[in-house]
Amino acid sequence: MIDDLDFPVEPYRIKVVEPIKMTTKEERELNIQRAHFNIFNIRSEDVFIDLLTDSGTSAMSDDQWAGIMKGDEAYAGCRNYFNFVETIQDITGFKHIIPVHQGRVAENLLFSTILKEGDYVPNNTHFDTTRGNVTHKKGIAVDLIIKEGKDPAKEYPFKGNMDVERLEEFIIEKGRDKIPAVFMTLTNNSAGGQPVSMENIRRTKEVCEKYGIPLFYDAARYAENAYFIKLREPGYENKSIKEIAREMFSYADGCCMSAKKDALVNMGGFLGTNDDDLEQKITNLMIMIEGFRTYGGLSGRDLEVIARGLLEALDADYLAHRIEQVKFLGEELDKIGVPYVKPTGGHAVFVDAGAFLPHIPRDQFPAQALVIALYREGGVRAVEIGGLMFAEKDPVTGKVKHPPMELVRLAIPRRVYTMSHLKYVAHTFKKIMAYKDKLSGFEITYEPRYMRHFTMHLKEITPQEIKVK
Ligand SMILES: *Cc1c(COP(=O)(O)O)cnc(C)c1O
Repeated sequence: MIDDLDFPVEPYRIKVVEPIKMTTKEERELNIQRAHFNIFNIRSEDVFIDLLTDSGTSAMSDDQWAGIMKGDEAYAGCRNYFNFVETIQDITGFKHIIPVHQGRVAENLLFSTILKEGDYVPNNTHFDTTRGNVTHKKGIAVDLIIKEGKDPAKEYPFKGNMDVERLEEFIIEKGRDKIPAVFMTLTNNSAGGQPVSMENIRRTKEVCEKYGIPLFYDAARYAENAYFIKLREPGYENKSIKEIAREMFSYADGCCMSAKKDALVNMGGFLGTNDDDLEQKITNLMIMIEGFRTYGGLSGRDLEVIARGLLEALDADYLAHRIEQVKFLGEELDKIGVPYVKPTGGHAVFVDAGAFLPHIPRDQFPAQALVIALYREGGVRAVEIGGLMFAEKDPVTGKVKHPPMELVRLAIPRRVYTMSHLKYVAHTFKKIMAYKDKLSGFEITYEPRYMRHFTMHLKEITPQEIKVK
């Protein structure tokens, strides 16, 4: 990066463009009502700036597109599989690399194999599909993030860390045999995309080793995590991202990875493990649901672009720009007084909707109210990460337990938007500031059993009078 710049300059130039179109306020109002106030039901064509997720939304490079033509579509043993495995082994050091078509399939295969009913899986913070897969196999997902990670205003360099003391107490309390694996999510997506330090990883590993429990990573954003270690952890400033990544993975027994994040592709994932027995069980299981072990639900060309993307994401200039872009959006929000989780994490700005809309009670989903306002005002699509996504009902008492924070995630797709797009997003917030105290909460009118936020329907408690110019 260039040292004396105070804004992020893109380390790439644009070769292909995709037009995006602004809708009118009337059109957006119709769209959001038809969508039952669920942002997942909006057509992407009706969105101007789409910050729903950074997952699978990356722009591929010219080298990756060239790799598409190098796809070997043989059923078994295609050359791209070997490139895929060797590239990932070189970064992670894991003995076995199993391709799958998404990260959640790796989770499903793993928990189908290692989890018994009533088992516990501790994690710094479970991502929603990870929690869903643990719960679906009748396990119990437990989040053991450090206390600093639960305080949105607290500046702390590694807010994604595991509470290692609590982890050890938990293992003693529940018994080692009830815990088939400990997970670490790098970076900690659901807790603000905050990084985990190498020291915390090492200490977590020591506890796991002491009790003979395997340590797995949810490695979707491991490269962004490695960049934060380089930036913030003493002793790592002169190491390459790849060296840091290799050290991180050296403490793990396996990982699930969604390639839709730090592999800079639109679809894919893998499972890594050093355990021969586990590899065999998983490859036997996946032939029925995902495919043969040398393609795992992906085309040869997909395996090729993952291998190429993984290497591109280890480039420090690329990572510096990405992390700076997220920081830039945070600084724009600072200028207008929008509270968000500080410091900004790797892939997104997490707006503290609880603090932004204090007049909306938690059981009326303040973060969803802000999501809807962003779409109505500016055609910006964000996502709620709060009570809709994570509230849990106690099966015995029926009491609802809310997650620690009520957040709106503005996830930034990799290599897709420029600085002016991010300025536009801040501008949309500025307009909402003028009437935010009048925004209404929401109630649920339909919800499915698992991962309700994807398909639920909502109703506005006090329907807004939409002033249309
Ligand atoms: C995206 C994600 C997953 C799930 O991966 P998919 O490829 O979407 O199935 C799991 N964990 C984390 C931390 C993620 O960000």
